[in-house]
Amino acid sequence: MSMDKHANPKTTTKTAIRIVTVSDSHMNHNKFDMPEGDILIIAGDWTNWRTSRTDIPKVVEWLKSLSQYRHKVIIAGNHERGLNENDVEKNKKYFMESCNTHYLQDEMLSVLGVNIYGSPWHPQRERNEGNKITKIGCLFSAHAFDRPLDEIKKIFESIPSETNILVTHSPPFGIGDLERPGHIGSSALLTEVTQRVRPFLHIYGHSHGGRGIRMVDGCSTVFINTACSPTMLDLLFQNESDVEQKEAN
Ligand SMILES: [Zn+2]
Repeated sequence: MSMDKHANPKTTTKTAIRIVTVSDSHMNHNKFDMPEGDILIIAGDWTNWRTSRTDIPKVVEWLKSLSQYRHKVIIAGNHERGLNENDVEKNKKYFMESCNTHYLQDEMLSVLGVNIYGSPWHPQRERNEGNKITKIGCLFSAHAFDRPLDEIKKIFESIPSETNILVTHSPPFGIGDLERPGHIGSSALLTEVTQRVRPFLHIYGHSHGGRGIRMVDGCSTVFINTACSPTMLDLLFQNESDVEQKEAN
C-alpha cells in the first residue's frame, strides 16, 4: 500500500509497519496468540458491561504483558461502562502509567510517520414512542459512549482530514455492520470516511458478525472489522521512484 496524499513524508520513519489490531475481545484476550508487531490497536469492547469496572485492571495487566509492540493504542466501546467518559485526562494517565498504552478519545496520535485518530462513540439505540424514549437492541444495557444522532454527526465531523488510520468502535453504516436487528453502523461516519477524511485504514468492530477486510468501489480506504480475534496487517510504504527503478531493471 502506498502512502497517500494525507501522509506527511517528513515524519515518515519506516518503510514497513506491522499493525496488529483486535476489538470486541470481551475478556477473551488470554485466548489470543498475539503476533509480533509495531503498533497494537484495540478498537473497543475489551470488557463486558456487567463487570466492566473490575474487568479493566485485568485488561491492563494483559496490555502490560504485551512487550512486543513499540506503540499500543486503545479506544473504548459501548461495553466499557467502567470508564468515565467525562474524565478523558484521567483515563489517558491511567493507561499510560499502568501499561504504556495511548488511550484515544477523539484524539490524534502520530507515531512511526502515521496519524492515528481514535473515537469510541456509537449511535444511541433508542426508539421515540410518543413522549417515552426506549433503548432498543439486544445490548440495551451496554450503552457506554453512546450519543444521539445529531451529536454523533458533530463528533465524526471533527475527525481531522490528516488521519491516516482511523480507529472507531462503531462501523460505518453498511460496511461490515450487520447484526440481528439490522445495520448498526453510523451513516454520519460513512459520509465522513468516504467523502472527506479518506484514511488509508478504517479499523473498527462492534458488529461481531461483520468481521472481515473490505474494499468499497470508488473509495481508497481499506475497511477492517476486527471483531473477536486479532488481525495482522503489514503496511509497506513505497514511493514512486522505487517503483520506477524496479520497472527500469
Ligand atoms: Zn460494541
